Amino acid sequence: MPARKLLLLPGDGIGPEAMAEVRKLIAAMDSHLQAGFDVEYGLVGGAAYDAHGQAISEEDMGKALDADAVLFGAVGGPKWDGVPYEVRPEAGLLRLRKDLGLFANLRPAICYPALAASSSLKPELVEGLDILILRELTGGVYFGEPKTITDLGNGQKRAVDTQVYDTYEIERIARAAFELARTRSGRVCSMEKRNVMKSGVLWHEVVAQTHRDGYTDVQLDHMLADAGGMQLVRNPKQFDVIVTDNLFGDMLSDVAAMLTGSLGMLPSASLGAPDEQTGKRRALYEPVHGSAPDIAGQGIANPLAMIASFAMCLRYSFNMIAEADRLEAAIAAVLDQGYRTRDIMSAGMTEVGTATMGDAVVQKF
Ligand code: ATP
Ligand code: MG
Repeated sequence: MPARKLLLLPGDGIGPEAMAEVRKLIAAMDSHLQAGFDVEYGLVGGAAYDAHGQAISEEDMGKALDADAVLFGAVGGPKWDGVPYEVRPEAGLLRLRKDLGLFANLRPAICYPALAASSSLKPELVEGLDILILRELTGGVYFGEPKTITDLGNGQKRAVDTQVYDTYEIERIARAAFELARTRSGRVCSMEKRNVMKSGVLWHEVVAQTHRDGYTDVQLDHMLADAGGMQLVRNPKQFDVIVTDNLFGDMLSDVAAMLTGSLGMLPSASLGAPDEQTGKRRALYEPVHGSAPDIAGQGIANPLAMIASFAMCLRYSFNMIAEADRLEAAIAAVLDQGYRTRDIMSAGMTEVGTATMGDAVVQKF
């Protein structure tokens, strides 16, 4: 079996602290399961800027292109507030997304039963929630041209952003949604605003056509994105996979995140197109949270989002489904046992630091 090539980019702030817990899991899987991980390390964000004045070096970009999967921690912090825009910490992640062609952003919103009480909604609405928001990541209004601010001369300015989607961009994200749904409950809800946007009309048409062309075993529904946002808060469990564009996906995935309780619990994956020869997709896995400079270096960060991101990596990059299931069950089990980092602490539970939480997951796994 060829080695499983992983590139670890811990980044800044709590990124390295959370990544250290994933390294324990990788070591355990290598020694007990002969998983055969081939692990490389690199620098990204402020750490890369301090080392060589770039948000990611060419050498580390090369490693990312060569890897089967990239595990990314978090970047940024007040230390780098003044660095030039082109080399700011976030530029490292944007470069990775662009050069790896990561057009599909997967954001699961899972509410562990043990944490349902900490949701911003009624516990019964979200307990056991398990939905996946699939956001188109490389197109739409965030990137469309023209994108300008023009001085109109009479004390007025005009700002223009442009929403652009081509058929192929919608088709590939729709395929990804249907394929993901097949590994879950088999339902996709596509969201756009076809009542007021031409890009919504095309989105609806292409998703429906892609469905007819090869995915009729999956149930497809369509919702207007505003109504979808309302339904997401009113009755989140009606959804399985939600597929939507870059802008709506940005907002809806943050809304879904808040349904579940803590930022420190949420993983994400960004996937590219399948390789024509091997079928493999380029992929990057990262927690939803940032570098949390306010708690960095204290050993109290919650490592579960990073660990859950590694579980997604096992599932989507290495097809290690049983191991991914077991790792996710191990996370639920340590929560059931009462282990809590400070961010998810509640009365009667046991407060632990980053390393103890990581050790507990390794133990259960
Ligand atoms: P970014 O712009 O990179 O998303 P941010 O400042 O918006 O960063 P975070 O860095 O995620 O957001 O931090 C937001 C808050 O949540 C902070 O108070 C931080 O301490 C807390 N937080 C984030 N992640 C974790 C974690 N893994 N464990 C504990 N607390 C966390
Ligand atoms: Mg943020």
